[in-house]
Amino acid sequence: MSEFKQVADIPGFAGKDIALRGWIHRTRGSKGIRFLVLRDSSGVVQCVVKEGAKGFEDAVKALMESSVELKGVVREDKRAPTGFEVDVTELKVVGFAENFPIRKDQSPELLLDQRHLWVRSRKLTDVFKIRSEVFGAIHEFFRERGFFEIQSPSLTKSACEGGSTLFEVKYFKEKAFLTQSWQLYAEALIAGLEKIYCIAPSFRAEKSRTRRHLAEYWHAEAEVAWIGQEGTLKLQEELISFVVKKVLEKRGGELKALGRDVKILEKVKPPFQRITYKEAVDMLRKDGMDFKEGQDFGIDEEKVLTNHFDKPFFVTDFPKKIKAFYMKESPDNPTTVLCDDCYAPEGYGEIIGGSVREESIDKLLENIKKEGADPKGYEWYLDTRKFGSVPHAGFGLGVERLVMWICGLDHIRDTIAFPRVMNRLYP
Ligand code: ATP
Ligand code: MG
Repeated sequence: MSEFKQVADIPGFAGKDIALRGWIHRTRGSKGIRFLVLRDSSGVVQCVVKEGAKGFEDAVKALMESSVELKGVVREDKRAPTGFEVDVTELKVVGFAENFPIRKDQSPELLLDQRHLWVRSRKLTDVFKIRSEVFGAIHEFFRERGFFEIQSPSLTKSACEGGSTLFEVKYFKEKAFLTQSWQLYAEALIAGLEKIYCIAPSFRAEKSRTRRHLAEYWHAEAEVAWIGQEGTLKLQEELISFVVKKVLEKRGGELKALGRDVKILEKVKPPFQRITYKEAVDMLRKDGMDFKEGQDFGIDEEKVLTNHFDKPFFVTDFPKKIKAFYMKESPDNPTTVLCDDCYAPEGYGEIIGGSVREESIDKLLENIKKEGADPKGYEWYLDTRKFGSVPHAGFGLGVERLVMWICGLDHIRDTIAFPRVMNRLYP
């Protein structure tokens, strides 16, 4: 067959011959005629196969999700959803499909069991294209600003985000953990590279079922020497704004197909509003929530807070005792740390966690001991403070959380091809 085009190329072929290949998204027909909706990675188009066309008998036999190659003539048709149809002159079935197990309106559980087939759905394909844009935009953002991309190990000896969500693995004769963050390694690496980032999987054994936790998620992290809280907040609001802008520019069609109201995304520009933890607690109280000051916010609190904002915003200066050991104590209040969480509006909540890092070895040691960890495991990390320590800060963005909000999805699992959550490791 001649050179294959894609469904997206069709508008340039009105009245002309075209060769396409893809999968039968839907099929129906009556005597002597078959209507096949052909799908490729760029879109769908209805193709009409009439008796007499080469391959008509196979077109009748082919069930949905069969793969086909076809030749035909593009016809403009105002009534067609895409404005065009293809009158097929020749069709070849490349792979006949069996009865496809997924039909309309199936339960989420079945769709997860059949994930390997459901990943070809229009919905997930649209989300994955946006996801791809998000990853590309993150790389572009950091590289444009002179950051180096660097990788750190996924197998580690020590915890950095609290022991309760660690995955333990056998490591020869030792015990190791799957990493929760590149944090500690990043702090060592800035002494050579100053501005670094990475996008890598982080692992958290989240034992509660929520709509926004995965056991394996993609973490976009940045660490920068010589900056403080102001510097890291600016970087975060610029990053989020940049990514959202890129998605709007390049994936408007997919957002529309997902039913996303883009008006709210169009507002995403720096600066983002900032409130302190204390102010957030006052807000919650005013809204009638019974919240005990000193605790971390859960999704219920975050949801209520997001009602006050129509853009992403920061909550800063959380109580020291609920935050990670490496966060810097506030110079004017030893009970809080110089940290921030960035929340997405519309009820989505936390998408980034960041902080200025503690430089004092004594404070770090005290914090490590308070967490009940063995300082021996952190000796190498403490060395970073012994050999030319500098002020530095950084953050971690949950890429799936960002994609979830950008796409307006109600569950994080649909932001990733093969979600890993408690009770699900297959397929
Ligand atoms: P949460 O309170 O929502 O569990 P966290 O405070 O544990 O988040 P951090 O340790 O600050 O999160 O991690 C940085 C970012 O990684 C978070 O802001 C979030 O976007 C993302 N993240 C954390 N845990 C998960 C998870 N289990 N699944 C998906 N994304 C996550
Ligand atoms: Mg968590």
